[in-house]
Amino acid sequence: MTFTTRFAPSPTGPLHLGHAYSALLAHDMAVAAGGRFLLRIEDIDQSRSRTAWEAQIYDDLHWLGLTWPQPVMRQSERLPRYRAALDRLTALGLTYPCRCNRADIEAAAGAPQEGVPQFGPDGRIYPGTCRSRLPGQAKERDVIRLNMEKAVQTAELRSFNETGPAFEGTHQLDPEQLISTVGDIILVRRNMGSSYHLSVVADDADQGITHAVRGADLFEATQIHVLLQSLLGLPTPVYHHHRLIRDAQGKRLAKRDDARAIAKYRAEGATPQDIRGLVGLPASSG
Ligand code: GLU
Repeated sequence: MTFTTRFAPSPTGPLHLGHAYSALLAHDMAVAAGGRFLLRIEDIDQSRSRTAWEAQIYDDLHWLGLTWPQPVMRQSERLPRYRAALDRLTALGLTYPCRCNRADIEAAAGAPQEGVPQFGPDGRIYPGTCRSRLPGQAKERDVIRLNMEKAVQTAELRSFNETGPAFEGTHQLDPEQLISTVGDIILVRRNMGSSYHLSVVADDADQGITHAVRGADLFEATQIHVLLQSLLGLPTPVYHHHRLIRDAQGKRLAKRDDARAIAKYRAEGATPQDIRGLVGLPASSG
């Protein structure tokens, strides 16, 4: 299999230094291995995605010296694929519709208990109020959740290999940890037809990604992705979670940190090699 990496931005704001680092690193790793670097636009959240941001992403990445094969995968064009993946999980008896809003979940969660985690990689750990509802009872405004306890009983729990320096090694999925620190994650968000977790596993498999290069903030979500890969019969790539680029106060950069936008550096006359230097990557030979 050809060594294949990807950069998968959401077109919901300008690319900043952290994105540049992720894209350049994934690109450099592919080039060093004689492999492929792919781009994917993660635009399932149509309420926040803008074509103008997508155009700016292409422009900034080209300016950085990156190239990628066409056509670019866009999540908004793949809803039937995500539906098929969901249907497979439903056929396994692992999904249920949930009508709880944030306030319902807060109320059902009750007071925090010592030693019991409240938040996981998918947000607040769901208290299970709707768990006995059946897929056929789904209403228009419901979200669809994964029954984690059933999922870990059904799946052959895999391990995954990590090459990022902070987490390097082999990590085995732990059923207890998935139940108590992750819980019943959302597979389909309201008005979205999918979720980040469901889409990313289908997309990485369909793009033939062998090495998923992304920020360390997504390391905890990886166990969800590997579980879904096991359940859906999809391959598990090698993961490489890289350090996050932080601002002067040590906070990780977010989309709203326009001060670090690539476009701003460009406007101020920076070169692509300057950007490489700022994120601590060696100069490119090209
Ligand atoms: N779209 C995600 C982001 O912008 C990246 C997801 C991934 O690399 O798995 O943070």
